[in-house]
Amino acid sequence: MEDSYRHKGLRRQLVEELRTKGIKDDRVLDAIGRIPRHQFIDETAFEKQAYQDIAFPIGCGQTISQPWTVAFQSQLLQVSSGMKVLEIGTGSGYQTAVLAAMGARVFSIERQRPLYLRTRQRLTEMGIKASLFYGDGYIGLEREAPFDRVLVTCGAPFIPEALQAQLKVGGRLVIPVGEGAVQTMTLVERTASTEMATSTHGAFRFVPMLEKRAG
Ligand code: SAH
Repeated sequence: MEDSYRHKGLRRQLVEELRTKGIKDDRVLDAIGRIPRHQFIDETAFEKQAYQDIAFPIGCGQTISQPWTVAFQSQLLQVSSGMKVLEIGTGSGYQTAVLAAMGARVFSIERQRPLYLRTRQRLTEMGIKASLFYGDGYIGLEREAPFDRVLVTCGAPFIPEALQAQLKVGGRLVIPVGEGAVQTMTLVERTASTEMATSTHGAFRFVPMLEKRAG
């Protein structure tokens, strides 16, 4: 689907809405202003709502995160150009695209093969560069570690050890933690090789982070 003037106008409104809701990082707002979110939503029934601040189903029982959540996580991550970023939960690829637009080198893992395949094709067609993997986010991506930043976009019952181990000293891990329907947005900063500083940043609702590849 083309990126029309109407889509661009709606996107500008979304950026202003996110600014009003407290997003201050211009790199994040600029990226959201550039990525055509409607192209990440398969069902044309939802196309008109693509620039409203709401989540949508993307197939396989998964959802594309709400723009505010994408903006909030991206801001908390403090991404700058050239950083190596690991994302857990590729889903639609929208968050991946936002990180790539911020200049990050993105590595993203998805446990559902149909989503991995579809999103890989979508990002290629859109000319968005990111390295996508079909795998289990709990074990991270040892062969590409260490990462400047790690972002988890599904609700994790606990903070996986491997994701902390694959973080550079000075690196940041942003992860929604909680076993029920609601998770606490958690920031883990690796302050020294054996030291982690943890802080919490509000309540969110994500689909659950599940173990092992689902096929
Ligand atoms: N970042 C995505 C959000 C998708 S929802 C977007 O912008 O669209 C979260 C995704 O995490 C789902 O696609 C789900 O299949 C995936 N997921 C759940 N558990 C996982 C795991 N252990 N490893 C990798 N991906 C996982």
